[in-house]
Amino acid sequence: MATRIVVLGGGFGGMYTARALRRRFGRKAEIEVINAQNYFVFQPLLPEVAGGSITPAHAVSPLRFVLDGVFVRKAVVDSVDFERKVVTVFQGIQRRPTEVPYDHLVIALGQGTDFSRMPGLEEHALKMKTLEDARRLRGHIIEQLEHAQVTELPDTKRGALTFTVVGGGFSGVETVGEMKEMIDRSLRFYPKIDPSEVRVQLIEFAPRILNEMPEPLADYAVGHLERHGIEIKLRTGVKSATHRQLVTTDGEVIDTRTIVATIGNAPLPVVQRMGLPLDKGRIPVDRTLRVAGHDNVWALGDCALIPLKEGASERIDFAPPTAQFAVREAKRVAANIAAAVRGRDLKPFAYASRGALASLGAKRGVANVFGHNITGFPAWFIWRSYYLALLPGIGTRIRVMINWSLDMLGARSLVQLKFYGKPPLRYVYYRAGDRIYNAGDRSDGFYTVISGSVEMERPDPETGETTLRVIGPGGHFGERLILGATRRKTTVRAKEDCKVLVMNREEFLMLAEGFSAFREYFRPYMDKRGVTLPGGDEDTGR
Ligand SMILES: Cc1cc2nc3c(=O)[nH]c(=O)nc-3n(C[C@H](O)[C@H](O)[C@H](O)COP(=O)(O)OP(=O)(O)OC[C@H]3O[C@@H](n4cnc5c(N)ncnc54)[C@H](O)[C@@H]3O)c2cc1C
Repeated sequence: MATRIVVLGGGFGGMYTARALRRRFGRKAEIEVINAQNYFVFQPLLPEVAGGSITPAHAVSPLRFVLDGVFVRKAVVDSVDFERKVVTVFQGIQRRPTEVPYDHLVIALGQGTDFSRMPGLEEHALKMKTLEDARRLRGHIIEQLEHAQVTELPDTKRGALTFTVVGGGFSGVETVGEMKEMIDRSLRFYPKIDPSEVRVQLIEFAPRILNEMPEPLADYAVGHLERHGIEIKLRTGVKSATHRQLVTTDGEVIDTRTIVATIGNAPLPVVQRMGLPLDKGRIPVDRTLRVAGHDNVWALGDCALIPLKEGASERIDFAPPTAQFAVREAKRVAANIAAAVRGRDLKPFAYASRGALASLGAKRGVANVFGHNITGFPAWFIWRSYYLALLPGIGTRIRVMINWSLDMLGARSLVQLKFYGKPPLRYVYYRAGDRIYNAGDRSDGFYTVISGSVEMERPDPETGETTLRVIGPGGHFGERLILGATRRKTTVRAKEDCKVLVMNREEFLMLAEGFSAFREYFRPYMDKRGVTLPGGDEDTGR
């Protein structure tokens, strides 16, 4: 029977592994790739998608086009049973789990994020990992410009025009450069925004940016970004975030409605569930890319900790989490699986980086190629040529080239095809003194205090006096929304730093109608305030 090789993940590691396996085995092995989407994402182009120089669909390639002869399964990997040699997945609209057997398993699922050490960041930061993240960021930037153009409130305008990127690695630097270019090229369409009102900043905890590059290139990058009006804060971390502010480890409070977090890499929950030992948040493999204790399980790419020499201990002794390395690792893992199947010796992964490239926006970049440092336009040109050549599929290459050529000719599109509204149920963080809402504001949710406390100010229409009510953990406010009121009658501020749960009206009413316990829990509270909940006594206990 043909050997079954199952590859988890269709990113740089997984897609290139499947291609290399197909070349090595021809039709003599069954090769299957399981990926959550039916496309391969070219992550280095995501900042360009966010900045609007590339159409989202052009930064991706359909896996079925680029994996000829490979069985592609669009499904979410749930778990792996290493004893029984089966992967459990959930596919399509089907809720029943499906088991996929394997003889050899390749894990190339990439990494997730964990912001739990920085309260509020998970809830209020935008990420930069997936195509959806890049689309969302583009839409969000346009939303801020649209809002800044029309608001009469100086504080709101300042927050809308302050854009903060956290993390000075490749993705952070390229993202901030692209964001700034997009904003600069769009401002002529927003006459009420003066360029001096726009603040774009990059925050990095380390003493320098672009750690993977030689220091002179990082210095050039800082100089270029600063000349283009991007503030760079080094040795600065994030302490916490709210929906309007970011607090740095220096104690600075930045009014910003845009926080893009490119930090906090962490193992994905599915990788954690596999029960394999993790080191530095990754799956440790030996130099042949095989997972310790499993002859038929291999790992590569961002999710694997790959030693580049015996006795590796320092950071530089391990393969960096880059696309360039993932592609090389893919070739080695495919060769070693072929060797294992044919009973031959395995070879260690060895690859010395030929260099590193980063785009800085405004047609400038930095590149270290075969030990030579290149800056400015030539580096940017090399960056574009290299990634164009690396893009899988001639069609994708042509489309990206057309996008880039058109981008040189005119303004970037400001069409906001989809606005990503707030989720119906969400945590929001506030700092002491923050306004949660003012009397007269639009009603936007029903609030429950999770931690900290808030202070509600209610003017008495008869006496004109104002009453104050402090609401602590477990307390609620904003219930007029449930009545269908569209405007607030009270003003609420955070008395202490606090975390609140906000629920939209529709979802609250659905829960009240569907769950008698929910309804009964809220009934005394709502009765006191004259709010009738759906689902009366007659249907209690339904
Ligand atoms: C914005 C950005 C810019 C970058 N720029 C550069 C650069 O300039 N140069 C460079 O070398 N590197 C760059 N990188 C890093 C590079 O993209 C990664 O190192 C590379 O993508 C890692 O490949 P991977 O296969 O390990 O993971 P990924 O490419 O992330 O692929 C993992 C795949 O697994 C899938 N997956 C995850 N969980 C599941 C699940 N449960 N079920 C099914 N499928 C799942 C994902 O959908 C994804 O398709 C950049 C990264 C980012 C985010």
